[in-house]
Amino acid sequence: MTLAERETQVVERVPKQLFIGGTWRDPKSGAAFKVEDPSTGSVLCEVADAGTEDGFAALDTAVATQPSWAEYAPRERGEILRRAYELLMQRQDDLALLMTLEMGKPHSEAKGEIAYAADFLRWFSEEAVRIEGGYSISPNGQARFLIMRQPVGPSMLITPWNFPMAMGTRKIGPAVAAGCTMILKPAQQTPLCALALADILREAGLPEGVLSVLPTSEAGGLTEPLLRDGRIRKVSFTGSTAVGRKLLEQSAEQVLRTSMELGGNAPFLVFDDADLDAAVDGAMQAKMRNIGEACTAANRLYVQSGIATEFARKLSDRMGALRLGRGTEEGTEVGPLIDAKAREKVQSLVDDAVNRGARVLVGGSAGDGDGYFYRPTVLADVPQSSELSTTEIFGPVAPIIPFETEEDALGAANETEFGLVSYLYTRDLNRALRVSEKLETGMVGLNQGVVSNPAAPFGGVKHSGLGREGGRVGIEEFLETKYIGVGGV
Ligand code: NAP
Repeated sequence: MTLAERETQVVERVPKQLFIGGTWRDPKSGAAFKVEDPSTGSVLCEVADAGTEDGFAALDTAVATQPSWAEYAPRERGEILRRAYELLMQRQDDLALLMTLEMGKPHSEAKGEIAYAADFLRWFSEEAVRIEGGYSISPNGQARFLIMRQPVGPSMLITPWNFPMAMGTRKIGPAVAAGCTMILKPAQQTPLCALALADILREAGLPEGVLSVLPTSEAGGLTEPLLRDGRIRKVSFTGSTAVGRKLLEQSAEQVLRTSMELGGNAPFLVFDDADLDAAVDGAMQAKMRNIGEACTAANRLYVQSGIATEFARKLSDRMGALRLGRGTEEGTEVGPLIDAKAREKVQSLVDDAVNRGARVLVGGSAGDGDGYFYRPTVLADVPQSSELSTTEIFGPVAPIIPFETEEDALGAANETEFGLVSYLYTRDLNRALRVSEKLETGMVGLNQGVVSNPAAPFGGVKHSGLGREGGRVGIEEFLETKYIGVGGV
């Protein structure tokens, strides 16, 4: 089979309808929207477009299914997740191809995301049977406290396009483990991975009505009435801070539990005592994972002045050698950006930095072809006043900002409303701990350029969000605590 035939086959295999109550259905309006391949700008297929009535049908199902789902044996919930983990891994190659087609990342990276996504299901399959309570004696000895954990209830899950499979499993995994029913609204640009995942969960034995998946071209129009209805009890959102803020406002009306994984603006600090080659390796990962379209992407590279020139040279050599191309092609290391708007934003941030005195060492312009390509770019001597030091770049641009002292570096790193992750390269143990403690972020990569791991608590502070996903605490976001006071013992 040729690559073109395989591409057609993986897209054809995905159900294109809405997934509600365990079955595939057409939307009430009969409407559909187009899904594009960002590497060519051509249409891959059309997908059902959910409207308000479909949203309420999914909500009715989630509410009706919640009591019986909460009573499922934890082991059974865990085993459904485990089977889904295995199915994802068995189909890793095809699912990765599907992801590359709708999102653009190189196939090898997409395979990595499928494994990462599957691992959330495996992790939470293990957590499903470890939901614990408590028993204690009141301080005056006259009562007993029984503490139990219960599912929060029907949950709304909203995911972005940049990690189309992993952002879904990072929410579905803990929701299933905790016993919550849910409605997933995937990003309009990448509905295919979410639909393929729904079909896998169905095949893995997820009972009807536990999960609905509603692609839509009208995100706010679909979700807002559902959040205001009062029967949804939880919103778990990953996306931009601007949209997160809107959802928090809407959630206030019904006092909903919320988890918010929002935007980032990660500082990447390199001190002159660092292992320079390791720091360049780390910068390549932190900057170029996902074509720079990651909330965890290194957005500002602060390098101590004595090593800034050498660091910039080594990084430029590596960035300039990367192969830009369609993610399905063998050897491609950098795919296209998600759309024309994203590419215009990246270009305008580069232009602004250059106008303020930054020097382009490599890249600095769009790539060739019909897709939304942008060349891997390194900018030197970037002034802190540049727009890109306060704005999430979301593209393959590495701005290097030299600094003199530890105090200067910390001050600049924390000068942002975001607080998701920071990176720090140094061989001085005392400095490593001192600086890590003072960085105002939910996560720190200390001498490493990747922090994402299903077994670790992922999340940010300040405008980067509320709550954590993954790790032992990930399931907490989908559990309520109930206390029973027992008298007369
Ligand atoms: P986005 O525009 O905020 O969209 C995210 C999701 O929200 C999409 O499904 C989108 O649907 C939906 N949405 C948009 N407007 C909405 C509304 N009014 N009501 C309800 N839902 C709405 O973000 P994005 O551009 O897809 O993703 C990039 C952002 O996500 C970046 O800021 C990145 O840092 C952040 N992110 C954060 C994390 C983290 O863990 N902290 C992880 C990944 C990404 P449509 O697609 O239909 O617009």
